[in-house]
Amino acid sequence: MTRTNEIIEKFNKFVIPTYNRFPICPVKGKGSKLWDADGNVYLDFISGIAVNSLGHCHPEVTKAIQQQCAELVHVSNLYNIEKQALLAETLSGLALGGKCFFCNSGAEANETLIKMARLRGNPQGKHEIITMKNSFHGRTLGTLAATGQEKIQDGFDPVPEGFKYAEYNNLESVKALVNEKTCAILVEAIQGEGGIVPATPEFITGLRAICDEHDLLLLCDEVQSGIGRTGRWFGFQNYDIEPDAFSLAKALGNGFPIGAVVTNAKASDILQPGKHASTFGGTPLASAVALAVIKVIKSENLLDNVNKSSAKLLTGLNEMATKYSHIKEIRGKGLMLGIVLDESAAPIVNRLMEIGLLSIATAGNVIRLLPPLNISNSEIEEALDMLDDVLAEWHGLPSEFSEDSNEPETTD
Ligand SMILES: *Cc1c(COP(=O)(O)O)cnc(C)c1O
Repeated sequence: MTRTNEIIEKFNKFVIPTYNRFPICPVKGKGSKLWDADGNVYLDFISGIAVNSLGHCHPEVTKAIQQQCAELVHVSNLYNIEKQALLAETLSGLALGGKCFFCNSGAEANETLIKMARLRGNPQGKHEIITMKNSFHGRTLGTLAATGQEKIQDGFDPVPEGFKYAEYNNLESVKALVNEKTCAILVEAIQGEGGIVPATPEFITGLRAICDEHDLLLLCDEVQSGIGRTGRWFGFQNYDIEPDAFSLAKALGNGFPIGAVVTNAKASDILQPGKHASTFGGTPLASAVALAVIKVIKSENLLDNVNKSSAKLLTGLNEMATKYSHIKEIRGKGLMLGIVLDESAAPIVNRLMEIGLLSIATAGNVIRLLPPLNISNSEIEEALDMLDDVLAEWHGLPSEFSEDSNEPETTD
């Protein structure tokens, strides 16, 4: 029995089956490379679902974890944590200029946005939040209610009320839902789980105008698109507007759990003592790691790298789109890209994994690519080669792959 099979057997016996897992057991990572328990090596274009944006085990992040661990890990939010203040100052400097709240995950950050919107709206009898169909905001009861997908809510009745779902990129459908009870609009600048769908500029600027006209909060879910993923610090910065507040999580700690809400001045003091809290939010350790992540993105000019790498990847993918009839569209921004197929993406994603490229299917027919922000040109070429081979094979065209290179490279 291989070590992989042993681990999978134990997994199936003792771990609650909330995921359909790929049949590999990663044990080591370095940069864009991931090794499994049997020594196979993969090129990681998932990055732990847009989390390991600096690649696996970036030395500066490892150093921050090690140094802070030896100094102070946790004290609770009963005290003023210096590194949390520094992180808040840093995030505030990147956008909106207000204040921050820290928690541990994307769902918690979105819960915070929802509570802020209700707390501000309630005195005027307002509580409804407009969100979008095919959005994804998390799996807690509040955030699954905010998520405009039946399959996420199915079986969890009663789903908390107070959410109305508009069509993404359809401003009229949003306007039709605004009434005297509306307090906020929550939106992803680029829908991630919904299939890598960027908002049109007219849609995002239109939402801002609706919010200004009706005194609603415009809230952006930047959990997936934030921290450089789209070539800007935050996804909404690809558009000519600012929200009143936005949520962050995934890439903020490069794998160390941390979530955050960043606000503008108007939204900074909605939450007051007793209204919201988090035991772990913004610990010295989590804050030190997030500060290191932001520092690396700045010092290694990673936003530039995202834009250059995105152009290179898009050129290759668009060439493939002209060559392979099953590709309907290439879309996304920065290094948050989707290959839209005319069929289910899962078999292609599985085949890519077999030959050594990790990607994920989303929205049924989209191959989602989320490589690290510091991906190199040669790694992009490697990924494009593997994609080309699998697509050629699928289209019944000659593939460059010989029998023996059809397996992930094995190293020790
Ligand atoms: C992943 C994700 C979430 C949920 O984040 P968790 O950390 O899993 O709770 C929320 N919104 C978006 C856009 C996401 O991609």
